[in-house]
Amino acid sequence: MGIILKSPAEIELMREAGRINALALWEMAKAVRPGVTTHELDCIAAEVLRKHGATPAFLNYPNREFPEKPYPAVINASINAELVHGIPGKRRLREGDIISLDCGTIYRGFVGDSAITLPVGRISAQARQLLGVTSEALRIGVAACRAGTHMGDVSFAIQSFVEGKGYRVAREYTGHGVGREMHEEPDVPNWGHPDRGPLLKPGMTFALEPMVMVGSEELYIKNNHWTVATVDGQLCAHFEHTIAVTENGPFILTRWEDEWKI
Ligand code: MG
Ligand code: MG
Repeated sequence: MGIILKSPAEIELMREAGRINALALWEMAKAVRPGVTTHELDCIAAEVLRKHGATPAFLNYPNREFPEKPYPAVINASINAELVHGIPGKRRLREGDIISLDCGTIYRGFVGDSAITLPVGRISAQARQLLGVTSEALRIGVAACRAGTHMGDVSFAIQSFVEGKGYRVAREYTGHGVGREMHEEPDVPNWGHPDRGPLLKPGMTFALEPMVMVGSEELYIKNNHWTVATVDGQLCAHFEHTIAVTENGPFILTRWEDEWKI
């Protein structure tokens, strides 16, 4: 299929999908506190999407290895040592947890995909630093998405920043092209080499998603066939934006109002 470039009109539609997705994250973020269940957060996101005439991109997403286990919820809620694809349920958040909330929205045929990792009440200094490094890695990655550079430059920018802070990036899980499908070409790895990989061009749209580990980058998939967690049980974090490469630089499609500026 190759990399599908989007027209300015299509990017506008993707911005709408991204805006709704950002709002779902925002509404969940306001509800994150000790005692809330991840299912309650899932319901909040479902309601935001429904109210805006959008549908969830994750619900019933096929599981490549276990076709009988499609994804059963609207969001991924991944706590502490869980990196991505945590399934919402009865688990209650506790003071000191960190939780990655990842949501995907389909609106008028296009997908928005973004994630944030949040503190639950007071968290350790280590956890706070991890969240700071991971969100900064995303900001640095987005800033590197300029037409005429290679994907490897973006990956390298993320990796070298994260490793320079003494953390590790996930190897087996990557960002991805986004458009009419949630997963399109190209892959957007969090590690790589300058001047390698696809050349970035205006009209490319993809999700950047730094996944950062305090300890080893070794991961495993839990018995629910979805949730990815660190083998050593140490903390990890995940931030994500869907962006468009434009003539004028990177444009964040899943930005919310009072977020940092590039
Ligand atoms: Mg995502
Ligand atoms: Mg993604």
